[in-house]
Amino acid sequence: GWQQVGNYTVVALPGDGIGPEITDVALKVLDRVVELVPGLDVTVDSHDAGAERWRSTGVAMPDETFDACESADAILMGAIGLPDARHPDGREVNGDVIFRLRFALDLFAGIRPVRSLPGVADTLAGGKPIDYVVVRENVEGLYASRTGGTNVRGEVATDTIVITANGTRKVSEIAFGLATKRGGRPLDGRKMVTCVDKANVLSSYAFFRSVFDQVADEHTDIERDHVYVDAMTAFQVQRPDHYDVVVAENMFGDIISDLAAATVGGLGLAASADVGYDHGMFQPAHGSAPDIAGRDLANPTAMVLSTAMLLDWLGERHDDKAALEAAAKIDAATLKVLAEGTTVTADLGGSASCTAMGDAIVAALDGQA
Ligand code: ATP
Ligand code: MG
Repeated sequence: GWQQVGNYTVVALPGDGIGPEITDVALKVLDRVVELVPGLDVTVDSHDAGAERWRSTGVAMPDETFDACESADAILMGAIGLPDARHPDGREVNGDVIFRLRFALDLFAGIRPVRSLPGVADTLAGGKPIDYVVVRENVEGLYASRTGGTNVRGEVATDTIVITANGTRKVSEIAFGLATKRGGRPLDGRKMVTCVDKANVLSSYAFFRSVFDQVADEHTDIERDHVYVDAMTAFQVQRPDHYDVVVAENMFGDIISDLAAATVGGLGLAASADVGYDHGMFQPAHGSAPDIAGRDLANPTAMVLSTAMLLDWLGERHDDKAALEAAAKIDAATLKVLAEGTTVTADLGGSASCTAMGDAIVAALDGQA
């Protein structure tokens, strides 16, 4: 959509499990920031999609909801999917929503910020500062097989990795663009993009690296870095302050971003975005957490920080200072609540409910004004 700057339509898909609980919090926070920031208006259009909807109607996401997502300025997703919600052929129902949107809207870059947060117990020895962002190629790579199906012939199963020059270039350009606007790595402020691959073993990853290098050649002001994925997992633990922006093929990006989330306090804190040239979808990195759903126990932080990413993305895209300011306000309010540590959920060692932590974030927003 190309609406007037400052006036956006956001489609909310609360989804399954804890999705509706954390989406309630996110929308309260969004409402309040819209009240506080002059020149910002957001119309939220909520739609029922996901595994529960599939169980009751046979369709996880009606076309009408897809169309609303396609014409919205951004999509805010809680959590889609439940463990046993599968089609007769075994495919998970969440793909009907997440993969359909990811592919049809060409959300080719998965963006996952990784940063140490105040008040959150340091899970790494040494307490090195962590502040990097993982950019994951989202629509090809080894997971491209998922759309083509797996070949199983008797005793052998194979999958095909697909690396295209165009796809690799696009995601590398997103990575260098992020490095340009960020403040550099924690270690020494140097701007750097790290390409994670397995170029020593597979020609597909060597190709990924060569295309990455072509893009790096066009950004001589930013340092380039290469690392094999196995070494990367050790470095994420041993020297996380070395990284600024990290770009990886689909499966490697999936793995290193889960590891990254664990190094900074767990899934309840990990925000994420799936973006392309024309659309953006924002959701926490975690799933629907059915084990704690319906009990007001979920940590809303990942969802609230994903909402901040949504506003930041709108702000950059539309050159809209109000949206950028709103994103910064939500971020600061959330960090304040984490730093104080008195109103945090059980996963962070506290005893606050999801609702109470959300209300504390709203109160922190009010306190800034
Ligand atoms: P998916 O397949 O959708 O990725 P998953 O099976 O990997 O889901 P999650 O739903 O992400 O699992 O949950 C993994 C664990 O983390 C669960 O024990 C869950 O309770 C916990 N968890 C996830 N999100 C949160 C949250 N926001 N707050 C507290 N705990 C969470
Ligand atoms: Mg998972």
